[in-house]
Amino acid sequence: MRIGFGYDVHPLVEGRRLILGGVEIPFEKGLEGHSDADVLLHAICDGILGALGEGDIGRHFPNTDPRFKGISSLRLLEAVASKLAEKFFLVENLDSTVVAENPKIGPYLPRMAEQIARTLRVGPDQVNIKATTSEKLGFVGEGKGIAAYAVVLLKEDLQAKYPNYA
Ligand code: MG
Repeated sequence: MRIGFGYDVHPLVEGRRLILGGVEIPFEKGLEGHSDADVLLHAICDGILGALGEGDIGRHFPNTDPRFKGISSLRLLEAVASKLAEKFFLVENLDSTVVAENPKIGPYLPRMAEQIARTLRVGPDQVNIKATTSEKLGFVGEGKGIAAYAVVLLKEDLQAKYPNYA
């Protein structure tokens, strides 16, 4: 078993779509970043890369690389899932928290979990996403940005690593 942790923040600005957990959420602002700035998926990618001992998302997908400009972070999560398979690991479960003052994201959580689970090739019960506000305190509370935390537990894929393993 290996454990990893991820954290990310992006600023909320006008003129951007708001994408969280691979789901577009109607809102007057969106997150600013080189990719689609999906703060939840970035925290999850970092959690997985951390558990693998593979550094962080910035090392694998530099924000100076034009290939990643405007990219859906689901593609980044897919690439991280491939790395996971390459190293013979599976996601046992992941838990995460999105911290946002607005909009209310509760109604979108099941769709996010479904997207993430499908991308990581696990069941939706292995992906938990929580939402909270910052009680109007700090940059999140003032609506200046959205933060996300994720913790990921990996298990070795013995079947894949040792094809003759009974
Ligand atoms: Mg990020």
